Amino acid sequence: MMEKYYFIMTYGCQMNIHESEKIAGILENLGYKATDCVENADVIAFNTCCIRETAEQKIMGHIGSLEKLKKNKPHVKIVLCGCMTQQEGKGEEIKSKYPYVDYILGTHNIDQLHDLLEKQSKSKILVEQTDGYITENMPVTRTSMPNAWVNIIYGCNNFCTYCIVPYVRGRERSRSMQSIKAEVESLVAEGYKEITLLGQNVNSYGNDLKDGSSFAKLLNELAQIPGDFRLRFMTSHPKDFTDDVIEAIASNDKICKHIHLPVQAGSTNMLKAMNRKYTRESYLELVDKIKTKIPSVGITTDIMVGFNGETDEDFEETLSLVEKCKFSSAFCFVYSKRKGTVGYNMTNIVPQEVKKERIKRLIALQNKITRQGNSKYLGNVFEILVEDVNSKFENTYCGRTDCGRLVNFKSDKNILNQFVKVKVTKGTSATLWGEIQE
Ligand code: SF4
Repeated sequence: MMEKYYFIMTYGCQMNIHESEKIAGILENLGYKATDCVENADVIAFNTCCIRETAEQKIMGHIGSLEKLKKNKPHVKIVLCGCMTQQEGKGEEIKSKYPYVDYILGTHNIDQLHDLLEKQSKSKILVEQTDGYITENMPVTRTSMPNAWVNIIYGCNNFCTYCIVPYVRGRERSRSMQSIKAEVESLVAEGYKEITLLGQNVNSYGNDLKDGSSFAKLLNELAQIPGDFRLRFMTSHPKDFTDDVIEAIASNDKICKHIHLPVQAGSTNMLKAMNRKYTRESYLELVDKIKTKIPSVGITTDIMVGFNGETDEDFEETLSLVEKCKFSSAFCFVYSKRKGTVGYNMTNIVPQEVKKERIKRLIALQNKITRQGNSKYLGNVFEILVEDVNSKFENTYCGRTDCGRLVNFKSDKNILNQFVKVKVTKGTSATLWGEIQE
């Protein structure tokens, strides 16, 4: 029998990376094998993102480049799924521009890919406008040993004014504690050493179940699973970060002391314009509380510069918040408007050159803070999970501390997927270097 191959191109966040593992699971169940050469594939799937318009343009360019391939090999199935296709009218728009795309699936329709391919159905657009549901027991092909991602909650109820996610991912839907626990137990039994719990807002886990489930209870429950592994989670929403979650992180060794806590802006005015539902003061209080209860914690964040209406004073408040919080690192980016969001129609746009100036100042400040923070780790010994080879250097491996810092270190032996003790010997603004301790 002829071998059949699939190629998946993933755009966007961690959630999408994990979703591609499910797409791979469906394809492997149908007998396809992975290839990293698009020309060899019988199924080419694009798992798309629409967080920024530039991401969409890039994806459109990639689809356009497949026209010749499809002409030469008409049996190849081209599949488009993910956030981009879920937008209203997008499926039809793509189909009219690129008629050779076979299947266009919305975020709630991925599981239908199995039937479409099995029956070799004619070209189809399946995009359901719904608040969403949960499909348990989808096949998953993981290629990320020793790390595994586990969805705990889907969707988002928050409608931040700059964000498209709630429109394309539906409302918050939590998986049951039972099914999450079963999945984590089986991953630990398979040898996965780091499990990352995923959700757009993990802190509101359980609210929709109305059976007493909560994120703190889930963390406490999962941390009791026996075995040599640790837990991470992302992403947290500051407005929902409760004291019992801080307590759960502080009191369980298996839960990493790293919290990604997107602030987005340091002025209450901007937070209001963004519909973030917390203030500068409440965010600072939360960070203080976390640092007091968990002294070894690493807090990272996302910061957006130049959202509509951001004044010089607002921006100065962002800088001063960054100074106060001393984030271990921050993903800093410039706001760009997104069709379909409330922000798209706002008129108080910040000029491009002002945005550019502000992002430069913000990145310079955060780099200084990261460098200072990293230098404090010199001489400290951390338990590191060896996650990868650093191919830029000879015999070099890398992994993260439980507070989320990336560390490089040398070893003559293959130590991948093991926990090792590493003493930090050097720190730059991006990474730490260290030596393995026997
Ligand atoms: S919390 Fe806000 S930024 Fe995060 S996914 Fe929901 S709407 Fe988007």
